[in-house]
Amino acid sequence: MREISTERYFDHNATAPLRAVARKAWEEALESFWSNPSSPHAGGVRCRALLEQARESLGQVLQVSSEDLVFTSGATEGNNSVLAHFFAQADSLSKVAVSAVEHPSVLHAAKQRFGGKVIPVAVDSHGVLSLDALAEVLNQSNLELVSVAAANNETGVIQPWSDALGMCREAKVPFHCDVTQWLGRIPVEGLACCDFLTGSFHKLGGPKGVGFMKTTGLDSTPLLFGGEQERGRRAGTENLPAILAALAALEEAVSEVSDSSPRDLFESRVQELVPGTEILAKEVERLPNVSALMLSAFENLRWINRLDRLGFAVSTGSACATANEAPSHVLAAMGLQPEAARRVIRVSGGWSNNAENWDELADSLGSVYRELSKEEDSSQVVSL
Ligand code: PMP
Repeated sequence: MREISTERYFDHNATAPLRAVARKAWEEALESFWSNPSSPHAGGVRCRALLEQARESLGQVLQVSSEDLVFTSGATEGNNSVLAHFFAQADSLSKVAVSAVEHPSVLHAAKQRFGGKVIPVAVDSHGVLSLDALAEVLNQSNLELVSVAAANNETGVIQPWSDALGMCREAKVPFHCDVTQWLGRIPVEGLACCDFLTGSFHKLGGPKGVGFMKTTGLDSTPLLFGGEQERGRRAGTENLPAILAALAALEEAVSEVSDSSPRDLFESRVQELVPGTEILAKEVERLPNVSALMLSAFENLRWINRLDRLGFAVSTGSACATANEAPSHVLAAMGLQPEAARRVIRVSGGWSNNAENWDELADSLGSVYRELSKEEDSSQVVSL
């Protein structure tokens, strides 16, 4: 099988290649810090100290008290935990509100627990949460939780989470924010004020299978019961090597956050080389690494396959939805018709790409366009 070039890998929103600092920290921990952090002997005590040091470091990055942080197996677990916590306190009238473009780990967990009592909050045609719709939802009685991700995984759209949080505060409804795509890409800002935060480290170059949740104090009902790890909030032996690798990746990612990105030049170039291409959500605030391109012709899988042959990895949207026949719920919520949604590809760069790689990808999109157009023309001639 062909090796995947990390320079040509543009699917960081699905997962990112492991950063060298993370690999080093991981290998070191596998070698030296493999004891159980709950063990009473010297190895365990050392691992416990490192675990708490990692929690402190995460607290500093997120600007939250380390006491409120729980390490998880990823954002899916974190999101399920938040919903499980509210479900444990719910009665038959309890409702939760989630934005219509949430990740399936929020949407499906909410549906599983609350069934018909899940209220979707609409987005506009750019995929931005409608604050008017949220205001209406907040008027409803028995609302236990509002959940809105800070940035969307498919479009990169940054949500007005700060306004949403303010409105929830006023209405005295807890606010949960999934920061998986935000973290390590733009500054953390006031996210710490959210009642619940969930995230993951593999999108920024940490290992898969490790994430975190910010709760408020010790008041949380676990998803996983068992040992007393994480102060009784999440049972299971902590994956210390992965946690240490995750923190190494996070610290490097945060230190590299920058205002400038080759993405905008890339988009202009694609629009020149592939006439008629539209950039979804171009008019609104987006993560600097993401470009959702609605191409003027040909289904997205044809583009993806051709780009793959040229060594480039891009995606149709959410990696978690490619097995589905139905077009993405995110694009549908933005009002895209299925035919248009099938012409959308998601380009998401990250630490492994430089400006030159973005240029090469734009050029390759141009050559794939010429190739597919030529084939289309000749097939029409044959069928005449
Ligand atoms: N939330 C968002 C916004 C995501 O993009 C993802 C990953 N696709 C998840 C949650 C799930 O994260 P994990 O893979 O760590 O379970």
